[in-house]
Amino acid sequence: MAQSKVVAHRGAWKNTGAPQNSLESLKHAFEMKCGGSEFDINRTLDGKLVINHDADYAGLRIEEHTYADLNKTKLKNGEDLPLLESFLKLAKKYPNTLLFAEIKVAPSGAAASEKAAEETWKMVKKYKLLKHTVFISFSYEATLKLVALDKKAKVQYLTGDKSPDVLKAAGIPGLDYHFSVFEKNPDWLKKAKSLGLSTNAWTVNKQEVMESLLKQGIDYLTTDEPEMAMGL
Ligand code: MG
Repeated sequence: MAQSKVVAHRGAWKNTGAPQNSLESLKHAFEMKCGGSEFDINRTLDGKLVINHDADYAGLRIEEHTYADLNKTKLKNGEDLPLLESFLKLAKKYPNTLLFAEIKVAPSGAAASEKAAEETWKMVKKYKLLKHTVFISFSYEATLKLVALDKKAKVQYLTGDKSPDVLKAAGIPGLDYHFSVFEKNPDWLKKAKSLGLSTNAWTVNKQEVMESLLKQGIDYLTTDEPEMAMGL
C-alpha cells in the first residue's frame, strides 16, 4: 500500500513497545514514514492540551485536574504526560507525515469540546502546521467549530452517523468512519469521493478489510498495524 495512505493509530506502538500516544510512538511513526500519525487530545483544568486516549488519566478526570497534578504520574517509558505543544515541536522536523489530531469528546459537554477544538487549532496555527494537520472528532459540534474558524481546515468527522451528503451540506470536508460503517453503507465511499470529501477508516487491522477499502479508493487507513499496512 502507498505509505501515504497509512495512518498509525495512537502512533506506532504495537510492534515497537512504545506507549500509545507517547512522543516515542509518534517518533516511530515519523521514522517509518507513515502518511499520518493519529493522537488524542484532552484539555486539563488549567487549559493545557494533553495527549491521552481516555477522559481520565491515572484515575483522575483530566478536565477536572491541573497538568501539574496529572503529571505526577509518568508514562510507562518515563515520559511526562505529553503536551500537544511537544507533539507539534517534534512534528516540525518531519514534514512528510500528517498529524491526525483527535479532539476528544469532553465529559462536561459540547461547549468544552468546542473550546478544546478552538485551542487546538490555534496552537497548530502557531506552529504553522495547519497544512500538515487533519482535525478529527466524534463531537459534531467540534467539527462544526473548526470549519467555522477556518474554512480551509482539514476536518474529518468520526461518528459514522451522518451521510456524505449531510457532511458536505454542513461544510465538513471529510469523514473518518469505523470500517463497518462502509460495509453497512456500501455506496458511501464512492459518494464521498464524488463530493470531494476526504476519506479515512478506523481502526483497520486486518489485511482483507484494508484491501477491500483500498479497492474502493479510500484516501487513508488508520491502523494499529502500520508496518503490515505499508507492506501490502
Ligand atoms: Mg483516537
